Amino acid sequence: MGFVRVFILVIVLLGTAFPGLAQGRTISVVVNGQPVRLEAPPFLLSGQVMIPAGAAFEAFGAAATWFAEKQAIVISNRTGLTLTLRPNEPVVLVNGEQRAIPIAPVLRGDRPFVPAQVVFSLLGAWVKFEEREGVLHVASQVLGVSPEQIPEGLRLIVDATGPVQVQTQRLSNPERLVLDLVNAANRVQEREINVQGGGVLRIRISQFQVKPYITRMVLDLAQPVTFQVTNAIDTFRIVVEVNPLGPATPPSSLSPAPDFSAALKVNEVRYEEGKGSRVVISANRAMPYTISEFVFPHRIAVDIQGAIFPPVRQVISVKNQVVTYVRAAQFMTNPEITRIVVTLRRKVPYVVRSEAGGTRLIVELEQATTRSHVVALDPGHGGKDPGAIGPTGLKEAEVVLDIALRTRDLLTRDGVKVVMTRDRDVFVEVVDRPRIAREQGATIYISIHANASVTASVSGSETYYNTPQSLALAQMIQEELTRALGLPSRGIKTANFYVIRDNTIPSVLVEVAFISSPAEEKLLRSPEVRQKIAIAIYKGILRFLEVYPVPAGH
Ligand SMILES: [Zn+2]
Repeated sequence: MGFVRVFILVIVLLGTAFPGLAQGRTISVVVNGQPVRLEAPPFLLSGQVMIPAGAAFEAFGAAATWFAEKQAIVISNRTGLTLTLRPNEPVVLVNGEQRAIPIAPVLRGDRPFVPAQVVFSLLGAWVKFEEREGVLHVASQVLGVSPEQIPEGLRLIVDATGPVQVQTQRLSNPERLVLDLVNAANRVQEREINVQGGGVLRIRISQFQVKPYITRMVLDLAQPVTFQVTNAIDTFRIVVEVNPLGPATPPSSLSPAPDFSAALKVNEVRYEEGKGSRVVISANRAMPYTISEFVFPHRIAVDIQGAIFPPVRQVISVKNQVVTYVRAAQFMTNPEITRIVVTLRRKVPYVVRSEAGGTRLIVELEQATTRSHVVALDPGHGGKDPGAIGPTGLKEAEVVLDIALRTRDLLTRDGVKVVMTRDRDVFVEVVDRPRIAREQGATIYISIHANASVTASVSGSETYYNTPQSLALAQMIQEELTRALGLPSRGIKTANFYVIRDNTIPSVLVEVAFISSPAEEKLLRSPEVRQKIAIAIYKGILRFLEVYPVPAGH
């Protein structure tokens, strides 16, 4: 027994598993309040927490990619900030400009690890390593709040350095609007901004809570207002629009005496479809409320504080491209909370507006057709062109068509619009494929192929891309494919293939496996394996769609 234990210890010390220990403990990474499932255990190096360049950054709204052939790690976020690092070089290129860093990235096996505190700080995050607990905390920071008078009232632009979740509440006596920026550390210089316009007297900003961070903005109101919050999915910016109702009243006669004799009751929850989708919540008096977001699946929850819901429970089945269900229920009693949950097919921009003196709340969801992605699937070859042929005669054209159709069905089931460059065994010219996709409004393009080599032993999956906007898509699909198949990952590579070259939309070409390898040809014959591949491509696409907006002009 003693021998076995020593033996295991030796392996642990020699192997790459050792890095997970910090003073006998594993290190975990928590980004915006959520523990991140990392690709490999982090380790300590001269006070820096070294983490794999991957999931942790994705959790912070950035994509990290390892270019093995160029020995470069590229980390970019949706504001256009790009960091380039290399193993064993203590420098970083910040949008092309070189800066020294205390610790260089390192390679363990063929996986790059980067100094987390350094890189997250460069991305604008608040970072702290709790050595005793072995936890690296990362949070977004709120840098500025800029009010701007607009004809309709007041617009408030809140700039953050990473993803931020907004929760809103209305408070009475005096009238206030409270915006909680959850998972955001306050770096705003001003504690108070005098506005005197658009229905707002002043804005107070404070660090309301730490662990997790909540930055609270309180808008002291001069009169009743309606408002809407837009939490853009393509920037880290939050826009709050406040529209005063009627003429301003002096602060002394702010709010009509609230009617406390009647309990707050949510009278009606209904779903309406017009230009977009909306959920309308009505009550007998003004509703204090908070908004939360959940994922897997995406949900928006509206909690009406202190409200009873006489029907107790209500389910509205919608099942369109955006919404699956709306459920309303008495979520809690004593204190009463009525919760309305809108379950979405996928993340869409939305605003919550308060009308009729706060007695009506409207959750407005962006129209499915305006900014939703359209996915083009391009099964390679077909018709007179069978593509590569396996050792026992399996045709690439047939395999990739089946995989593409399976991927299409998965996406369609989720309400994602899909266009195909071919959906049968027909020949389509390579030069026509991107055009077919473009004409049908595609916003991302995935060409599906099986690889071939004259050497039978060559195996694995690889994904090609050509333009910078395609990099993250290639990375996400390649990761899912490698995870699902367990074949060697040949990584993501750049190439000049026609179908991914002249595209203005994110475009990749996936080589799912080697049909020339007897073992992989056998895998490609199996419907189960094809389904696995389709699920992997589908997951990669969904990850991309959730993070990246539809490119401008599409
Ligand atoms: Zn091919």
